[in-house]
Amino acid sequence: MTRPSYYHPDHFHDQCGVFAVFGHPEAAKLTYLGLYALQHRGQESAGIAATDGTEMRHHRGMGQVAEIFTEAVMSALPGSAAIGHTRYSTAGDTALVNAQPLVVACNKGPIALGHNGNLVNAEQVRRRLESSGSIFQTTSDTEVILHLLAQSRKDTLAEAIPEALRMVEGAYSLVLLAPDGVYAIRDPRGFRPLCLGKLEDAWVVGSETCAFDLIGAEYVREIEPGEMVRLSAAGVESSYFSPPVRHSFCIFEHVYFSRPDSIIFGRPVQKSREMLGRLLAREHPAEADLVVPVPDSGTAAAIGYALESNVPLKVGLIRNHYIGRTFIQPEQTIRDFNVKVKLNPVRSLLDGKRVVLVDDSIVRGTTMRKIVRMIRESGALGIHVRVSCPPIVSPCFYGIDTPTRRELIGSHKTTEEIRQFIEADSLGYLSLESLRKAVADAEGSYCQACYTGKYPTDFVELKLQQEEDAQARPQTAETFHGKRGMMD
Ligand code: SF4
Repeated sequence: MTRPSYYHPDHFHDQCGVFAVFGHPEAAKLTYLGLYALQHRGQESAGIAATDGTEMRHHRGMGQVAEIFTEAVMSALPGSAAIGHTRYSTAGDTALVNAQPLVVACNKGPIALGHNGNLVNAEQVRRRLESSGSIFQTTSDTEVILHLLAQSRKDTLAEAIPEALRMVEGAYSLVLLAPDGVYAIRDPRGFRPLCLGKLEDAWVVGSETCAFDLIGAEYVREIEPGEMVRLSAAGVESSYFSPPVRHSFCIFEHVYFSRPDSIIFGRPVQKSREMLGRLLAREHPAEADLVVPVPDSGTAAAIGYALESNVPLKVGLIRNHYIGRTFIQPEQTIRDFNVKVKLNPVRSLLDGKRVVLVDDSIVRGTTMRKIVRMIRESGALGIHVRVSCPPIVSPCFYGIDTPTRRELIGSHKTTEEIRQFIEADSLGYLSLESLRKAVADAEGSYCQACYTGKYPTDFVELKLQQEEDAQARPQTAETFHGKRGMMD
């Protein structure tokens, strides 16, 4: 299956959302609702595993949550504990076999595992496991963790998990279902969010708190970096499997990935995004009549920009929210069709106006150029593009779908060259200093590698080299590639 080319063009994409419930008679149904609220974190496949304490059942499918889980499917997932996963995969590894949760029966019993993030040393660990006889069923990095659990000589799952996780490096927010309970685990650097909530006597875990709101659960706290929480009949048990290391929360979660109605890394996303816009207005003011967001990614920052600059905010671009997974295109080529099918300018607002156009990021620049052209064709007198984060110069290896470094326009063009490419009258990026200020990062707890090229883990140089090598030779058959890939 290929990715629809019009789908969120020219943006980074988060790749997974996870959710879990323990201690509720309708655990699978609540998980379904949790995944529904986390749909923005992955749209290509989803799955739920549930247990009644004796049997573990699961269902996975390609597509969106509401399409996959019918009443009939849900009624076949009984039990008071469940985990779920929604996935945005990469070209070449969209097959159902890679959909999660991954479910196995091993010497630690039946286990289901859902993973948000990406392991940077998965290839090395996999090669070692294969050389000692492991047979992998998927091309997903997540399966490495299951093999490490199965190979552990520890007697219990609770002992095997820390041992296995000490052998992997990278980003992982995990939910794991076993007959005796649910485990929620976050990597020592805490790249991806993972939150704990409570619904009456039941416990819930989710990538973002917006999933708790839908089911009426109360947000309790974050699962801490390096923490393993076990939810079982014994209650909540917390332990740490790693000595403390410097945190590397993904700053892009605040810029774009997470929903603005969520609290992540202990901070409301809306608050960060509005502050991004305010600081952007201070750093890059413009003589303008209107502030126009690129919906929906630029909306919150545009509100902040308008408030700070006293320039009125107008919805000058209308987004079509009802674009399906398949789309019949006309035989005759329509110029910039992929953007036009998603966004349409409001000519009556834009004609004769000087416009500040706000978006969260520029990845390749091709989509922004099309949007600028559309607005200019609507009669705008000036277009001042403002971006609520710094130029993206390097790819992500921690669970975000990004193009290669060479494809990132910020990696090889100056701001002035990018301005010329997107055909704007002016272009302003938020500085890294202001980005950190907007998320209240006083202690250097955030990963900023896509803006700086400085990665907080080992193994990344090797991946960058592999990327260069892959670009230098013609594309061949599918290889093991974790969860990264190219967009558009
Ligand atoms: S490289 Fe960028 S997108 Fe990836 S974890 Fe770091 S800040 Fe987030």
